[in-house]
Amino acid sequence: MKHFPIFLNVQSRRVIVSGGGDAALAKLRLLLKTEAKLTVFAHDPAPEILKWATEGRLTLTPRALEVGDAVCAKLFYAANEDAAEDARVAKIATAEGALVNIVDNLQDSQFITPAIVDRDPVTVAIGTEGAAPVLARAIKADLEEKLSPTLGLMARVGKEFRKQVEALPFGRKRREFWTEYFFGATAPETEEDAQASLETLLEKHLTAPKNDGHVDLVGAGPGDPELLTLKARKALDAADVVIYDRLVAPEILELARREALMIEAGKTGFGPATPQDVINELIVSHARGGAHVVRLKSGDPTVFGRLDEEIEACEAAHISWRIVPGITSASAAVAALGQSFTKRGRNSGMRFLTGHDTKGFADHDWKTLAQPGEVAAIYMGKKSARFIQGRLMMHGADPATPVTVIENASRPTQQILATTLADLEPALTNADLNGPALTFLGLAPRAALAAAEQFETKEAVS
Ligand code: SAH
Repeated sequence: MKHFPIFLNVQSRRVIVSGGGDAALAKLRLLLKTEAKLTVFAHDPAPEILKWATEGRLTLTPRALEVGDAVCAKLFYAANEDAAEDARVAKIATAEGALVNIVDNLQDSQFITPAIVDRDPVTVAIGTEGAAPVLARAIKADLEEKLSPTLGLMARVGKEFRKQVEALPFGRKRREFWTEYFFGATAPETEEDAQASLETLLEKHLTAPKNDGHVDLVGAGPGDPELLTLKARKALDAADVVIYDRLVAPEILELARREALMIEAGKTGFGPATPQDVINELIVSHARGGAHVVRLKSGDPTVFGRLDEEIEACEAAHISWRIVPGITSASAAVAALGQSFTKRGRNSGMRFLTGHDTKGFADHDWKTLAQPGEVAAIYMGKKSARFIQGRLMMHGADPATPVTVIENASRPTQQILATTLADLEPALTNADLNGPALTFLGLAPRAALAAAEQFETKEAVS
């Protein structure tokens, strides 16, 4: 280890940046997070620097640094993006006693600035001794994602609460309390929330020897794990039991806590299914046993997800629950087309429909849907395609109305079948799609690029 990591107190200390361009700006953005007294020496400072100077956030001296300027400085950054000028000012600053960093010159720098994850007062510094900045950035990105944006606020409020937590026995009990506070399913957003969450948690830990169960009704998105929300990821991280739908992608299930019990509660339109009351019972019985249950549903749980029945089961059993929304498959599918749901002059509203419901093919307001310009996303619409086609044609829809079917939206196996109402069947049957598919009535893939893809896809699937 050539560089020893320390946290230096710069409160009210002089920190100098020599330079006024991009390199100086990058350092200043970091330094402005501190309580240091910042001074910039620059001939030609960038507008941001001028703005910060007028706001009183730093002192600007609009000329090059000269002998005597760096006296009493704690840290000094040579950021002129000019090797000769950097060497000149670094020499002055070193002679005047400052610790010197020359931007992009590891060799001649006395210290380096790490990549920082800032959750003040929690600060994570990452350094690779200049060997692998890409790695440092990747670690930083990973941590940024893992650590709640309000972690700093939680730490500050938590610190004030330490005395009260002494009411819990020393050791495991207190550790469990703090773990739940910092890594629980919901991060507080304000100081009041954090305070309230500490108080509620303490009460809970003081009175309940056994954890109460909880149910998170979580949207897993359309399949691409990157379309999962951070909240969903956290819930998966914390889950004791995950009850998931057949449509949830395996890559997403991988993200669940290793020790979690994974239960598939399969449902297939018209096919084998776990009855809803069995699913409700599964959810409730695990939560009653004290488990943190994640009920993981594809897309958004509030869209054709029989969510209300599960909520009612939780309510009836007095189990706390929460909805974590997800990206519905129609959003991923419309993105795949390069289109938007609504467009000025075309449609000022759109519908989410299901091809079938518990009673069979679902009935809709066919007369309205048959009007020109209507846009509808039809879920579970594969088996009912001929029925929908027939009903719309019967109500006078234009046979040339564009209809696009997107299979496996957002997954590597995504396929697009662009057709018209008149051709929907037999085109869909011929395409023999096996994955989940969403049908758009009134939307075609965006022209140009999409037209080419559409041709290829048609070729590929026909
Ligand atoms: N809650 C889900 C919908 C559940 S109903 C959501 O918000 O997306 C199941 C139907 O969703 C499937 O029959 C199919 O129509 C659609 N679906 C789910 N995932 C899909 C995907 N990746 N691509 C296309 N359609 C999908």
